[in-house]
Amino acid sequence: SGMWARAMAILKGMEQKSETSLEKLRQLADAMNVEMHAGLASEGGSKLKMLISYVDKLPTGDERGLFYALDLGGTNFRVMRVKLGGKEQRVVKQESAEVSIPPELMVGTSDQLFDYIAEALAKFVATEGEDLHPEPDRQRELGFTFSFPVKQTSIASGTLIRWTKGFSIEDTVGQDVVAELTKAMRRKNLNMRVSALVNDTVGTLAGGRYDDQNVIAAVILGTGTNAAYVERAHTIPKWHGPLPKSGEMVINMEWGNFRSSYLPISEYDTALDAESLNPGEQIYEKMISGMYLGEIVRRVLCRMAEEASFFGDTVPEKLKIPFILRTPEMSAMHQDTSPDLKVVAAKLKAIFGISNTSLRMRKAIVELCDIVSTRGARLAAAGIFGIVKKLGRDSGEVEKQKSVIALDGGLYEHYTKFRECMVGSLKELLGSELAESIVVEHFNDGSGIGAALLAASNCLFQ
Ligand code: ADP
Ligand code: MG
Repeated sequence: SGMWARAMAILKGMEQKSETSLEKLRQLADAMNVEMHAGLASEGGSKLKMLISYVDKLPTGDERGLFYALDLGGTNFRVMRVKLGGKEQRVVKQESAEVSIPPELMVGTSDQLFDYIAEALAKFVATEGEDLHPEPDRQRELGFTFSFPVKQTSIASGTLIRWTKGFSIEDTVGQDVVAELTKAMRRKNLNMRVSALVNDTVGTLAGGRYDDQNVIAAVILGTGTNAAYVERAHTIPKWHGPLPKSGEMVINMEWGNFRSSYLPISEYDTALDAESLNPGEQIYEKMISGMYLGEIVRRVLCRMAEEASFFGDTVPEKLKIPFILRTPEMSAMHQDTSPDLKVVAAKLKAIFGISNTSLRMRKAIVELCDIVSTRGARLAAAGIFGIVKKLGRDSGEVEKQKSVIALDGGLYEHYTKFRECMVGSLKELLGSELAESIVVEHFNDGSGIGAALLAASNCLFQ
């Protein structure tokens, strides 16, 4: 019918707008490269902040002792303790707990949020057993993974530039987040010292390097997306401090804020951005990461319902609710292997209250998920290729040198089609020869261990 054709035209329109040819991905990688240079040249030189992490030595394996780590970066936060036994024993033991953050605390006050965190941490410390206990009279040391844009002022201090990923707590912006946490820990009578403040990408890089000395960069694909990599310190014009002994400095790119005229931005992305908590910011992240993929799909479906009566004469009420379609649900529909797409049918019923869909409608929805997921995965691959180019790892002399990109995050870990598309697209960009020496590896929860390791190498007694 005419309506079906109109719905398909909307779908095809999105497909065309989402086009990511190899040529476009190469242009994006080059644009990323240009912005990386600009961000390293001067403060505020680019949308890419290219933040200096103050991490100038990565784990060696010699780290020893009991350390805590705290990871705040999305909807959950994790606390862990790990006993490090040096080169021979490595990670002797680790324990962790996960706590979810009540949504109202994500938009409340700074004290409320940090009190909640300090209290959860205190509870976790109280469960220390005999075998995982600091030595008498020794203060507990913490690596704090805080995955929001922070302007570091040292390895253990930094001010929050802005919130992302649905957090919006005005009075934290511009504050030292380590001081905020430290004050809260004092209020809760918790005697602990923050010895390293790191981004989750930096933590993952450190954790990855601990396992594999060929790790040169880390990328997170989770609720948000970001990357960090090891830069040669003398190539950072905005670094005015002494050159580190290692000659290296880890850079937290904050690549989620990347923006380029080559990005295939559709009207759905424009509307999503305009109605978001941070309009105009994190444009790359809003096309790639887990917080947004399902929402983009919902917006296209909504248009199909409104303008082409895709779900019948009326637009299902729930379809109009922003963020009601979460990315795990989208990925379940996308990866439905049943011949009659019964997972898609079940999800449509459960999420939107939509029943009685035909098989061809469900197929169209799977196709839409594929369009949105493929675009995100290919854009992420272009970003990784940009880092590889910045480090010159794509050129002749270093061809045989193995390079590992440490990947982590729920989107990468659980969304198989997204992951496979990302890995495949990166191989396309690298070409078959380079793809043998430049590889991505999944480091599950590398950032927790990484933060503990960085706490170890920056603590007072080591
Ligand atoms: P965070 O990024 O919040 O630190 P994670 O790395 O665990 O946490 O990523 C969680 C995100 O991963 C979720 O917000 C979701 O978008 C995405 N995700 C989790 N499971 C799946 C899944 N099965 N399919 C697709 N995306 C998923
Ligand atoms: Mg995380």
